[in-house]
Amino acid sequence: MIDSHCHLDHEPLLSDLANVIQRSKEVGIEKLLTISTSFESFSRVKDLINKDEMIYGTIGIHPHESSTDIITSKQIIESLNENSKIIGIGETGLDFYYNNSEKDKQIASFKEHIDASIKTNIPLIVHSRDAEKASGIITFKNSLDLQDTFKSIPMDNILIETDSPFLAPVPKRGKKNEPSFIDFTAAKLAEIKNISKEDLIKKTTDNFNKLFFN
Ligand SMILES: [Zn+2]
Repeated sequence: MIDSHCHLDHEPLLSDLANVIQRSKEVGIEKLLTISTSFESFSRVKDLINKDEMIYGTIGIHPHESSTDIITSKQIIESLNENSKIIGIGETGLDFYYNNSEKDKQIASFKEHIDASIKTNIPLIVHSRDAEKASGIITFKNSLDLQDTFKSIPMDNILIETDSPFLAPVPKRGKKNEPSFIDFTAAKLAEIKNISKEDLIKKTTDNFNKLFFN
């Protein structure tokens, strides 16, 4: 089982890292992909990938940070070349809901990330508000539309993630999320797809490995 999107460099995960890793291993997680959101975040991610062999990272600037942290495609490619455990680009994308960053700066930043992804063939991690991603949100009772969406997505195209420390799944809702809670998301998604949890875990793990280690 793999948590394909978490933010280990955010509190309270960062100061409790040893326990977070321990509990991840206890539920059977093999890899954690910790996602950069800013330059400061990326410097923490570079430390994190050396803390445990299960931890991998990405390089990128979140749309909310894109007016202050200006990144180029060249910088992204350099960071990827310098660190073999930096395996993804993001999280990038557009978010005009909070408008923390000006529209044109978000678009310019997104383009740099896309350019780096095209040039390197390394996966892009895209933030999108109300996105169809299999995070803890699918365990929420009011997420029936999202559950319907997942019924129709082929199993080959699904990864699972927590987006921790944000958005804890039911029954942990309201608590700080952490990678080990991915078990609830896996169970719920298996129920939606009408397959066993074991099959779901095996398939999503294969998907991740094919996408990032191919
Ligand atoms: Zn995220």
